[in-house]
Amino acid sequence: MSSSSERVDLDGNPIKPMTICMIGAGGFIGSHLCEKIMNETPHKVLALDVYNDKIKHLLEPDNLPWHGRIHFHRLNIKHDSRLEGLINMSDLTINLAAICTPADYNTRPLDTIYSNFIDALPVVKYCSENNKRLIHFSTCEVYGKTIGSFLPKDSPLRQDPAYYILKEDESPCIFGSIEKQRWSYACAKQLIERLIYAEGAENGMDFTIVRPFNWIGPRMDFIPGVDGPSEGVPRVLACFSNNLLRGEPLKLVDGGQSQRTFVYIKDAIEAVLLMIENPARANGHIFNVGNPNNEVTVRQLAEMMIQVYSKVSGEQTPEIPTIDVSSKEFYGEGYDDSDKRIPDMTIINKQLGWNPKTSLWDLLESTLTYQHRTYAEAIKKVIAKPIAS
Ligand code: NAD
Ligand code: UDP
Repeated sequence: MSSSSERVDLDGNPIKPMTICMIGAGGFIGSHLCEKIMNETPHKVLALDVYNDKIKHLLEPDNLPWHGRIHFHRLNIKHDSRLEGLINMSDLTINLAAICTPADYNTRPLDTIYSNFIDALPVVKYCSENNKRLIHFSTCEVYGKTIGSFLPKDSPLRQDPAYYILKEDESPCIFGSIEKQRWSYACAKQLIERLIYAEGAENGMDFTIVRPFNWIGPRMDFIPGVDGPSEGVPRVLACFSNNLLRGEPLKLVDGGQSQRTFVYIKDAIEAVLLMIENPARANGHIFNVGNPNNEVTVRQLAEMMIQVYSKVSGEQTPEIPTIDVSSKEFYGEGYDDSDKRIPDMTIINKQLGWNPKTSLWDLLESTLTYQHRTYAEAIKKVIAKPIAS
């Protein structure tokens, strides 16, 4: 670890050690952020979550080099009077807590809206009232569908970036109708963004909003039936990993035609650390964080994952590699999809000089190596278990 006197920000000023209240620290992004902060900075983390399985390796044993700099507080921000005190003890609050798996948006819309809007309200209020800086995690999904998706299929304008590149300060937020409950998440995230922005404008709160564009890597979500419910539906990386580990065809929702850009979690975490340590450049901004060079259709993602998994596991590719399923069958009533998500990188480049580095192939190779090492044996045991009659 570098000593605090050696660390300087992007403007050459020394970075003072700070205390960070990280809500949702036990999740996918939180676990990588805690790891980065412990390994590379002198900052302290008050890690708040209902679970800590993904950060256990940072909490125990007592002789870890960062011992005393990370403290886990098991709490649910819905109802815990300790929250304001913990925010008050910190220089910065980072809020990652959310229900953020698409399978929940249309099937548990109330929980989704409460989690992403109502439960975040006290966090914003305590930061504003106590003059504390807030980094809030929103989502690229606030953009919804692209303008281009409403053009006729054969319109040449669909090729014009003006109709699909997503810009923080210009693009509109385009959601489906209310019965398409998929958009409950995006809408709740949009409203909390507006509230935070208004706290900045009216009450001078220091804030940064992060819009992640499909960050993926080790420890994302769960493998159904191993470290999560058998019937659970995680995000696409874990769904496809589960299919590959079990030797099943990968399920392409509505033909896998939607497009996504995927960024490696370790690249994205670099961007978050820059925000943490450069408040003068990050405050008042909304940042897209993604990798515009890693765009694929979901079908292409499946095909690449099949190839990469075969390389890292040494196993044959499945006889039937993919199957098509309807979104209604896979997610149920009320599902809808974002057609295409390419982040504009102008603002993050200008403010923080950040650029993603890792290609889709390379990030899949390291992630699927992790998935194979972590889950292959456990899956074999699950498959070998006789089904109870
Ligand atoms: P995650 O589900 O792995 O992590 C969220 C964590 O928050 C979990 O550990 C959960 O236990 C915790 N949490 C939820 N409700 C809580 C509560 N009431 N009290 C205490 N803890 C609670 O998800 P993630 O991928 O790490 O996402 C983190 C944030 O980033 C979320 O706000 C999400 O909407 C946003 N985001 C992530 C991505 C991505 O690519 N991973 C994309 C878009 C947005
Ligand atoms: N998807 C799929 N098969 C799966 C899981 C997801 O085809 O087993 C699709 C899903 O319909 C969406 C894309 O993959 O088009 C990305 O889904 P994810 O759950 O990762 O979240 P999103 O990017 O939609 O927020």
